[in-house]
Amino acid sequence: MPHKLNAVRPRGKEHGNSQEQPEQNPLVQKPRFPSSPDSQTAVGAPIEFQYCAESDIQKAIRWFAEYLRAEREEYHPIAGPLTGEWRDMMEGYFEPALLDRVRVLELVDERVANPWFYPKAREKGFQHLPDITHKAAVTFLDVVVFNERMGSRDLFHGLVHAAQLRVLGVAEFTELFVRGFLRARSYFLVPMKAHAFALDARFAANPGVRFSTEDEIRDWWRAGRYGSASFPFIDAT
Ligand SMILES: [Zn+2]
Repeated sequence: MPHKLNAVRPRGKEHGNSQEQPEQNPLVQKPRFPSSPDSQTAVGAPIEFQYCAESDIQKAIRWFAEYLRAEREEYHPIAGPLTGEWRDMMEGYFEPALLDRVRVLELVDERVANPWFYPKAREKGFQHLPDITHKAAVTFLDVVVFNERMGSRDLFHGLVHAAQLRVLGVAEFTELFVRGFLRARSYFLVPMKAHAFALDARFAANPGVRFSTEDEIRDWWRAGRYGSASFPFIDAT
């Protein structure tokens, strides 16, 4: 498929307003299992955990990792390095090795498609899968692909995910992400996303006040704030 690559240029220091916003009202989410009316509490608040079989969770983790790797291979050859003002802007927040390695791409007249495994995941009971097409940017390992023009805050956010992938490794990242997604009331409350939002907000609020995102990520990970693989899901099989 033909990709058009814009020369990537900073557009001043504005941070844009393309921040991802929750599309789902967590209050309207309903569990697929159990389906008994008793699953509604007396005050009418639905139970918001998603219940999936452990074998299906493992499948989803594998699909997600395969998807990230495949998209990375597709976009890496046509993406460009982080250079000039963009690179200077991110210097000090991320390790030089990450900034050297990362590639960025602005899509023109096309957007990243939703993952191939969504229909299969829905069949397995996964709900409220995020619409990738409407996100400002998507990180595929060390490649950040922008559905729109690149902005500094979206770039920062995408680089936080690239740093998470680098610090945790793909296997741990995908495992904690999928389990965090199942446990969270909303995609935007997945700990790894919530952390990226918190860090990009800090970046936007205090321009030029550098901090190590990798240190923050290691702290969260070690403290168990990204979750763990041992969360007790109900096995619905
Ligand atoms: Zn994110």
